[in-house]
Amino acid sequence: MEPDFVPEQPAEIHFQIGEKAADRLGRIVDGNGLKAEQVRLARHETLVHQIPGAIRVALKPEMVKSQLKGKRPHGQVMANEAAIVGLSAGIAAEFIASHDVQVEIMQHIATDPGRGWGMKHFKLPLAVTRKEYCVVDECTKCGGLAAFACATCSKTGAVPCGNCNSGGMAACPVCFGAGQAEMPDGNRGPCTRCNTTGKVVCPTCQGACQLRCNKCAGKGSVSCTECDASGFWTHIYDVTLHAHGSFEVDRQQMPQDVQQVMDKLGVRQLATEEHAEIFRLMQEPTTAYLLVPYFAFLPLASVEFSIEGKVFPAGVAGLTGRIMGVDPLLDNIIKPGINALFKLSKGPLAAEALVDQACKYRVIRYALSGLAKHSKRYVYGQIIKEYPLVLSDKYAKAVVKYADVALLALSKGPRTKGLIVGTVVAAAISAAYFMTAAHAMVDNIFKQNGKPQFSVAGDAAIWLLSYVVAWLAIKIVAAGALKRMLPESVLSNEEKGLPAAGQQGKLALLTTLVPWVALAFFAVQKPGWVEAALKLLPH
Ligand SMILES: [Zn+2]
Ligand SMILES: [Zn+2]
Ligand SMILES: [Zn+2]
Ligand SMILES: [Zn+2]
Repeated sequence: MEPDFVPEQPAEIHFQIGEKAADRLGRIVDGNGLKAEQVRLARHETLVHQIPGAIRVALKPEMVKSQLKGKRPHGQVMANEAAIVGLSAGIAAEFIASHDVQVEIMQHIATDPGRGWGMKHFKLPLAVTRKEYCVVDECTKCGGLAAFACATCSKTGAVPCGNCNSGGMAACPVCFGAGQAEMPDGNRGPCTRCNTTGKVVCPTCQGACQLRCNKCAGKGSVSCTECDASGFWTHIYDVTLHAHGSFEVDRQQMPQDVQQVMDKLGVRQLATEEHAEIFRLMQEPTTAYLLVPYFAFLPLASVEFSIEGKVFPAGVAGLTGRIMGVDPLLDNIIKPGINALFKLSKGPLAAEALVDQACKYRVIRYALSGLAKHSKRYVYGQIIKEYPLVLSDKYAKAVVKYADVALLALSKGPRTKGLIVGTVVAAAISAAYFMTAAHAMVDNIFKQNGKPQFSVAGDAAIWLLSYVVAWLAIKIVAAGALKRMLPESVLSNEEKGLPAAGQQGKLALLTTLVPWVALAFFAVQKPGWVEAALKLLPH
């Protein structure tokens, strides 16, 4: 976790980015009418800029809450949640100064590919800070009383006796209140059960006039089930501090042009793509956060490249010697090659010399070989990628456009040859179909399946097959011819693909259709559609 050693002066490599850029440019233009060593660095003025940046890490508590019934304290007992939040903030300040916590944070930062420079916002739980608190509170349901007053008996624990209407006496069960009852001799006489009063003590309440309340078992109150009749809740707070870190560069201290270059290269990429030399300084804890300061040495050079006596000024940035701006110097250099392509498109005159002339340039060789297999759009995209800045968009497009027309012109004769061969083969296919039993067989299959009207589709499929064969013949013959005409270097990569069939491909539609129709007319067994057509003709 030691901070980086910071040299007093930027290392020598910072002042060599001009050379690096010249090498880079040399490799780009090499083989395009130039050799790599023809690109020289004529002059350079290199400044190494210091870009300050820092990760600011704050610790923020995260709480996981849970509840227990009753008074069951866990961890540190606190008055309320606000007190825990307040205490956690205080603890965060303590922990930010703790060596262990700083080590954990710095280790996390060290895992970043840029060692923290340009790091995305991160959130890191700090297990060592985990702490449990609790707040014991009155039960909100019973207000801490653990029980509710019994509503049935109004807290008295007793209810009035319904049998005697709370009078304590009930009608005599022998004389039914009359005072006189039937005697054993059959006559009526005074009731001995109630002494002729007609009333006895209430058997339900034994004269007490009231009964025990069933709802509260005579206690006058009902226990609170929310708090297990304790009157309390214990709130548990599981608190862990999380380190929240984010990186920022200090733009206020940077000149505008350095900011622009930095944004073009990407702040994070300064570290991950090694455009800049990054130094991490000693972390500084404050009461509110941990500051992890950095600074980067970013070299910028304004240079002049010299190519065959001509001078091209350019801007170069970063330790990789990235060229940020230069004139499209390749335009003029490859111009003769584009001219040769243009002349090739005009006719076969001096084709061999023109091909040689065009193929002197690597970018044109690439376009010629690429177009044999890929779309113009793809080839253009690849060229733009491989020749950033040094080739203008206009010239990149011209290379693709004229390579395409030159290829078409070069392969025109072979394509015509291919068309002739293809047409002959196509006619042979149609003949083999109509002049043998094949057509009748296909016709029968459709008839047997009750779909004679589809017989024509079978015939059409034969024409389509013959057309595809002719179209392939054009491409194959053209590919063979181009292979002979173009230098080996153009066709060196063994990718699969065939050149375009061009105008001849469209012509093949007609040259295969004609023999197909003619042979159908002269077929051994004329197709139904031919018979129908013949009937329409005037006799
Ligand atoms: Zn309660
Ligand atoms: Zn009660
Ligand atoms: Zn009685
Ligand atoms: Zn009673």
